[in-house]
Amino acid sequence: MLYSVRMRAAQGGPHEAGGRHISGAERLVLAEQINTVMTAMLDRARGHSRGSADFINITVEAVAETSVMRVPLLTPTTTCVDNVTDGQAAATMLLRQAGVTPKAITSGFEHLLGLTESMRGAILLCAATGRRLDERGQRGVRVSRMDIADAAAFSHYLATRGLANIHVWEAMVLAAKAMAAPGVVAELCWSDDPDYVAGYVAAKSGYYHRITRLKPNGSSLGGRIFFVQPGTDVGRLISYLERQPVLVTLAKEGT
Ligand code: AMP
Repeated sequence: MLYSVRMRAAQGGPHEAGGRHISGAERLVLAEQINTVMTAMLDRARGHSRGSADFINITVEAVAETSVMRVPLLTPTTTCVDNVTDGQAAATMLLRQAGVTPKAITSGFEHLLGLTESMRGAILLCAATGRRLDERGQRGVRVSRMDIADAAAFSHYLATRGLANIHVWEAMVLAAKAMAAPGVVAELCWSDDPDYVAGYVAAKSGYYHRITRLKPNGSSLGGRIFFVQPGTDVGRLISYLERQPVLVTLAKEGT
């Protein structure tokens, strides 16, 4: 049996009562790891650079191993840029290559740059028209019930590539699940952590392309956009993102 352990933390009360989102985390672990993972989540929610949480919800839920889908890790690459303008230009080019139209790319940037407060989840946009497809408002769609299959091997994998940080770890797991989703063609993301200005574009073709600067220093506004192929069953896609248990495998394990 595996256990989905998930945390959401807010300031000023629960999210559903208007609290400001502080932090969230998603793991899928063995029974003997639950205590350690919960403690780490609690520490993170209480000491976050976005502020101190006064509402912390940690859910532990059993997941049958037979329901777990395995998906491959994306290949990481990095583009170094000097400023946000160059970062956005790099992201635009990568999204174009991934098949997102200029109109939808503009819409993606407008949605993220127009946020006045960070969301808890992601926005789904049509990759052709840029129209918003989910009806979740400020809550967005939260990708959940996923983890890396072999944490020690993944740690080593990231360290040998100079990518050993929690942001990359979590983003690569999330993006791998999302790119395996029915209809998702690409993702654009930058963090809401004021100390982390990098972001990325992920694409269905199998890459996670990190861009070293996609927002100004000190900004606590971040977000995620999933670009979705026209004609996709959005209900089915949201159900996959939220509910399908997924373990992400390193290439070696998958073969
Ligand atoms: P982070 O990379 O954790 O700083 O998150 C950046 C933004 O991505 C957040 O403000 C949320 O809007 C979104 N986000 C974070 N975690 C998830 C998730 N599990 N599923 C969907 N969107 C998320």
